Amino acid sequence: MPRTAVFFHAHPDDEALLTAGTMAMLAAEGHRVVLVVATAGERGLADVEPGEELARTRTAELYKSAAALGCARVVLLGYGDSGLSSDGGVAGDRPDNAFIDADSEEAAGRLAKVLIEEEADLLTIYDPAGGYGHPDHVQVHRVGGRAAEIAGTPVVLEATVNRDPLLKGLRLAGRFYRFPAEFDVRAFERAYTPGDAITHRVNVRRFARQKRASMEAHATQAAGGEGPRTLAVMLKVPGPLYRLLFGTEWYVRRDLPAGARLTHPFDHWPRS
Ligand SMILES: [Zn+2]
Repeated sequence: MPRTAVFFHAHPDDEALLTAGTMAMLAAEGHRVVLVVATAGERGLADVEPGEELARTRTAELYKSAAALGCARVVLLGYGDSGLSSDGGVAGDRPDNAFIDADSEEAAGRLAKVLIEEEADLLTIYDPAGGYGHPDHVQVHRVGGRAAEIAGTPVVLEATVNRDPLLKGLRLAGRFYRFPAEFDVRAFERAYTPGDAITHRVNVRRFARQKRASMEAHATQAAGGEGPRTLAVMLKVPGPLYRLLFGTEWYVRRDLPAGARLTHPFDHWPRS
């Protein structure tokens, strides 16, 4: 039976990094996949000046990514990108309508309206840490969780990353490569989710082509700033290694025991 899954993200390109393979998989299985994004990411690092022009460019990139993944609908909530200060906290010079300053009940109501319209069976949000801690990502966790309560959406999955292999990889890389002074590997000890708390490991290797196309769609995020961008580095990884490194997507479903080892977002469905 086809179902509807709504993927809630903070900025254009977050869907590419965290949930693209799952989205492409569900679309290929005949489910309705809806992408909701809180902001246009107009304060992200890019070669284009931050502001309206970057918002337009990144919105166009988002639609291109959504098309590559087979999304049926894209909704932009239109909040301002809160940005990130140089020390990783909330930026002081943020716009008036910054997502982080939005009334979370009001924002949740707007997302709930989409969930109700779509009769959503599943909503994805982020882990409570907001992944690496961007304030807009923490807000996605809060607002998304509340929206699901209002709309009565039966399943909520927190899109995350398994922290254990990430930390292992970073520590290994630190032996061969000198990280910039401001890059603190220890900060990742509190980011994302430890492996034993993850309930879903979704194998998306078969959808590596779509996931890569989604990443490639966000061209502004693979350039700009000093030094290499995460997305640019990921896109340089050759095919077989790409499938290995980016072939799993992780989720936490809080109403299941932490040790659950599920492989599909609709596994352990409450109605079945
Ligand atoms: Zn983001």
